[in-house]
Amino acid sequence: MVERDLRARGIKDPRVLAVMEAVPRHLFVPDHLHASAYDDRPLPIGENQTISQPYIVAFMSEILELKPTDRVLEIGTGSGYQTAVLARLAAGVNSIEILPSLGARARKLLDALDYKNIEFKVGDGFFGWEDRGPFDAIVVTAAASKIPEPLWRQLRDGGRLVMPLGAPGKSQKLIRARKSAGQPNIEDFTEVLFVPLRGAIQQPSR
Ligand code: SAH
Repeated sequence: MVERDLRARGIKDPRVLAVMEAVPRHLFVPDHLHASAYDDRPLPIGENQTISQPYIVAFMSEILELKPTDRVLEIGTGSGYQTAVLARLAAGVNSIEILPSLGARARKLLDALDYKNIEFKVGDGFFGWEDRGPFDAIVVTAAASKIPEPLWRQLRDGGRLVMPLGAPGKSQKLIRARKSAGQPNIEDFTEVLFVPLRGAIQQPSR
């Protein structure tokens, strides 16, 4: 998978490639899908949610430009697969999942795999994790039409926020927003298709 779907398609960061090699994706998908775990596509993980495609997990991790000392906030724990990848690239990860059953399952699995630098929370990631911020990097693994304001506030100056931006039901653009002197410097990357961010952001006033 790493050679065929990641290196061949342009993932270059040697740390990201090594981590993608090391994290066993089959543990993060339901038993009956084990045979497909190393295909480069999203797979269902229950509750109408999906584990992201390996290429996209690698790509998002690469453009986050993580240093081993960085602290990362992840919105949308899902299966916990990207959480594991981030935990190996950074000093610590705070991960928020809105669906209690998925949050509990990911926590149990990552505890069993002995990850010690991840803190989990069940709740609406729109609001971030105020008392753990500011973060060096923030990744949102569900789509919205704009960057949630609380997340932007919790990003350190010089930090990077990566998320899929797009209106509901449309395809989205993966963006990286770098904070410099408080201002967003936004770059567009590939088109993606993520499940929508739920919760507060879906209220018209947000
Ligand atoms: N990175 C995960 C992707 C899961 S899909 C993986 O590869 O397994 C996106 C996840 O975001 C889903 O689990 C969904 O329940 C969660 N989610 C959606 N809205 C959210 C919100 N407002 N706060 C936190 N998690 C949210």
